[in-house]
Amino acid sequence: MIRLELSGEHTRLHSSLCSQCPQGPAGCCVSPPELDWTDIGRIVSLGGRGWLLEQIAAGNLLPVSRGLELRRVRRREDRAAPRRSKCVYHGPRGCTVPAERRAATCNYFLCEDAFAERADGQADPASGAGRRAHALLREVYGRWDRELTGAVAGRPEGPSWDAAFLDWLGAEFERLSSAGELAALAAPG
Ligand code: SF4
Ligand code: SF4
Repeated sequence: MIRLELSGEHTRLHSSLCSQCPQGPAGCCVSPPELDWTDIGRIVSLGGRGWLLEQIAAGNLLPVSRGLELRRVRRREDRAAPRRSKCVYHGPRGCTVPAERRAATCNYFLCEDAFAERADGQADPASGAGRRAHALLREVYGRWDRELTGAVAGRPEGPSWDAAFLDWLGAEFERLSSAGELAALAAPG
């Protein structure tokens, strides 16, 4: 079953399949997405600048040319299981960081199995709306990130990975999101 948690640019999609993921206990967290410029700006705009600086200093978030890579760790899901590589933030009961500290993709991505899953073979009424929300979020976030990639490249000092740079990304994210392109995903009421 698909469940949509509408909240504009912070919209989340949930699937009941994820708790029994066919890919294994860590699900798609074996391949964490990068925090791209837009994700970093979103996290800053939600009060996460200090957390980002801490995580960069701790080596859990690694500066790369497109933003920040999430460190991968090799762990067993249980004693009998082989060690597998997965996101540093994946714990025994799933993601250990709140939605406002994750890449937007972590919040809205669902695989095709999740969209198709319904034990009784009937169409899930939320599946169509989920796919539309997923497609819109991918398109808008992708475009915002291309714009921010150009803006970062245009800074003479480049990405300095200090508080001032993160604040600038936060302000850029707020500028992009204020145009209301994701108003169709606004929370009801
Ligand atoms: S989205 Fe798909 S691959 Fe990812 S955890 Fe859910 S069921 Fe597994
Ligand atoms: S941040 Fe959380 S949801 Fe995203 S890949 Fe890592 S553990 Fe998974």
